[in-house]
Amino acid sequence: MDFNDTPEEAEFRAEARAFLEKHLEPKTSSGVRRERGEDFLRRAKDWQALKADNKFAQITWPKEWGGRGGTAMQNVIWGQEEAKFDAPTGPFAIGLGMCIPTVIAFGSDEHKQRYVKKALRGEEIWCQLFSEPAAGSDVAGVKTRAVKDGDEWVINGQKVWTSGAHYSDYGILLTRTDPKAPKHKGLTMFIVDMKQAGVEARPIHQASGGREFNEVYFSDVRIPDSDRLGEVGQGWKVAIVTLMNERLAVGGSPGPDWSEIMDYAREAGTLSDSDFRQTLADWYIAAQGYKLTKFRTQTALSRGETPGPENSIGKIITANQLQDICNSAIEMQGHYGLMTDEERMPADGLFQQSFMWAPGLRIAGGTDEILKNIIAERVLELPQDVRVDKDVPFDELKQG
Ligand SMILES: Cc1cc2nc3c(=O)[nH]c(=O)nc-3n(C[C@H](O)[C@H](O)[C@H](O)COP(=O)(O)OP(=O)(O)OC[C@H]3O[C@@H](n4cnc5c(N)ncnc54)[C@H](O)[C@@H]3O)c2cc1C
Repeated sequence: MDFNDTPEEAEFRAEARAFLEKHLEPKTSSGVRRERGEDFLRRAKDWQALKADNKFAQITWPKEWGGRGGTAMQNVIWGQEEAKFDAPTGPFAIGLGMCIPTVIAFGSDEHKQRYVKKALRGEEIWCQLFSEPAAGSDVAGVKTRAVKDGDEWVINGQKVWTSGAHYSDYGILLTRTDPKAPKHKGLTMFIVDMKQAGVEARPIHQASGGREFNEVYFSDVRIPDSDRLGEVGQGWKVAIVTLMNERLAVGGSPGPDWSEIMDYAREAGTLSDSDFRQTLADWYIAAQGYKLTKFRTQTALSRGETPGPENSIGKIITANQLQDICNSAIEMQGHYGLMTDEERMPADGLFQQSFMWAPGLRIAGGTDEILKNIIAERVLELPQDVRVDKDVPFDELKQG
């Protein structure tokens, strides 16, 4: 494939860049600063509405849902250009990347009319309520119960690590409706109104100082049967669609790369250290390998193909590298590396902020080990992980 833009792609890139330059400031640093206060949310909602009004909100979505009806390559180009600017995009990533595609795939026409455009314009924010204290990598082990009562379902249980639940309006909720069935077969998915009585989001205080994800408790929450996504007992099939979209969405990580730590080492006078130079060379080689792998993904997209499980490699490489790079930079800073005062941190806190975020990135959207399992089983076709509990009724499984 020729990686230069075609004339049409160059035209789209120029249009996108002009729009971004008109409305946003260029990014001054690749550090991960994770603001989520009221002001940030307001700014994010305004930016999302402006993008939607100008058909930049969801490039590949059909026009009937407010998208541009554009190509996958245009989507790649938009992502590349928007990443160069200080764009407040975070709060909508889960809703538009995972929840709404699931609503489009399994919801009724009323659901689509009611939810899709409002989410696209940033008027309503969505969260993904899958993980529980004993169901993360093995998400089919969820225990949150949904019990039918007339035309409604009554929900009781607890979710955890729910990003953005405290400011979300709606969520997609994976529940257990039949504990007598094997774990993958007794699940059902719902749309849940996060602002209704009985739903309590308790933000988790993170090492970085942020509060981005939550424990969410459901106490006798009532959901009408009409807000079910997919058939009763088919929740796993619905969840797979969400998770497939998640795997496509989680690629490389934002944050400082080998070139930024090289610049920093030059300033700090440690570039002549031979051990450091060796490590720098390893990061450079891994980054080049990942860049070429991304070109393969782009080639697949430009041919109208969907990138496959090999895409999982991006997060393994970049999240680990981000953690290593930030760790080395902080060591280089000596005592100053321990500072947490934003005004005084060396290099404007570029490495500290990203260091706090990197471990989470290695877990969210599939841990390193789970992604390696996917590559082993589905790319390299090695024997499958042992799954002894697959056909056992859920209520006969040892719990704990
Ligand atoms: C920043 C962040 C945001 C998140 N946002 C959301 C969200 O919005 N909604 C949501 O539902 N969840 C969310 N999560 C939860 C996330 O999906 C889970 O944390 C993740 O799936 C891992 O599950 P766990 O934490 O229960 O760890 P566990 O599954 O208990 O894993 C513990 C350890 O065991 C390893 N392990 C587990 N199974 C295997 C295996 N078969 N083979 C080898 N090793 C294995 C894991 O790799 C890990 O090292 C988020 C997590 C993070 C960090």
